[in-house]
Amino acid sequence: MADRKLFILPGDGIGPEAMAEVRKIIAYMNAELGSGFVTDEGLVGGSAYDAHGQAISEGDMAKALGADSVLFGAVGGPKWDAVPYEVRPEAGLLRLRKDLQLFANLRPAICYPALSAASSLKPELVEGLDILIVRELTGGVYFGEPKEIIDLGNGQKRGIDTQVYDTYEIERIAGVAFELARTRNNRVCSMEKRNVMKSGVLWNQVVTETHKAKYSDVQLEHMLADAGGMQLVRQPKQFDVIVTDNLFGDMLSDVAAMLTGSLGMLPSASLGAPDAVTGKRKALYEPVHGSAPDIAGKGIANPIAMIASFAMCLRYSFNLVKEADNLEKAIATVLDKGIRTGDIMAEGARQVGTGEMGEAILAEFKSLSA
Ligand code: NAD
Repeated sequence: MADRKLFILPGDGIGPEAMAEVRKIIAYMNAELGSGFVTDEGLVGGSAYDAHGQAISEGDMAKALGADSVLFGAVGGPKWDAVPYEVRPEAGLLRLRKDLQLFANLRPAICYPALSAASSLKPELVEGLDILIVRELTGGVYFGEPKEIIDLGNGQKRGIDTQVYDTYEIERIAGVAFELARTRNNRVCSMEKRNVMKSGVLWNQVVTETHKAKYSDVQLEHMLADAGGMQLVRQPKQFDVIVTDNLFGDMLSDVAAMLTGSLGMLPSASLGAPDAVTGKRKALYEPVHGSAPDIAGKGIANPIAMIASFAMCLRYSFNLVKEADNLEKAIATVLDKGIRTGDIMAEGARQVGTGEMGEAILAEFKSLSA
């Protein structure tokens, strides 16, 4: 079996603490399941700035480009608040997204039954929730030109951002959404604002055509993005896969995130185009949360978002579907047993630190894999 090349970038704050728990799972999979991961590690964010004066070194960028998959912790913290803008910690993540051409951002919103009471919605609305938001990540209004503030000369200024999408950008993100739907409940809901935006009209047309040409076995629905936001909090379980642009995806995925309780629970994946020779997609997996400087170094961070990000890596980069299922099941079982980190603590549960949570999940994973 070919080696599976993983490049690990723990980053700053709680990033390294959470990543340590993933490393234990990788070590077990290599030793007992013959998974063949070959790992290398680098620096990103503030830790890279301290070592190299850059948010990621050229050497580490080259390693990220050469890997099958990148595991990313978190970056940033007050220590680096005053560093120059172009080398600020987040610049490392933006560079990775750009150079690996990660155009598809996958954000699952899964509500573990044991945590349904922690949601801001009624438990019956979110219990068993399992939706996937596919957000276009490299185009749209965040990158379109012109993007500027101009002085109108009459005491007024004008701020301009440009929402722009080309056919190929919509086709490829729609393709990712349809393909993922086939591995789930086979339903896609596309969201845009075709009633007021030309880019929305094109989005709608291209998604419809892509569906007709290649994915007509998948059920497709269209929804205006504002109505979609409303439906997400009214009846979230109606969705399977949602595909939308960069701006709407940014907002809708944060709304969906809050349906599930805590920031410490949320994984994400960013996928690029398939390699022309190997067919493998470049990919980066990271928790949604940041470096949590307020709790860093205390051993109390919740490692579940990082571990669930690794489960996504097993599923999407390495097609290790059974292992990914088992790891996700292990997380659910540990929560069912009432084991909790501080951020998801509930009455009657047992509070543990980062290491103990990681080990409890590993123990369940081992028994499921045996
Ligand atoms: P944050 O996600 O780091 O923390 C927000 C709150 O949630 C904090 O109270 C934190 O303690 C808590 N929290 C987050 N993850 C947790 C976990 N795994 N377990 C337990 N509690 C957890 O967001 P912030 O405070 O706005 O930002 C802190 C730093 O992280 C900033 O420098 C910011 O720029 C950076 N940041 C980085 C990323 C990234 O690396 N992708 C994302 C967001 C923020």
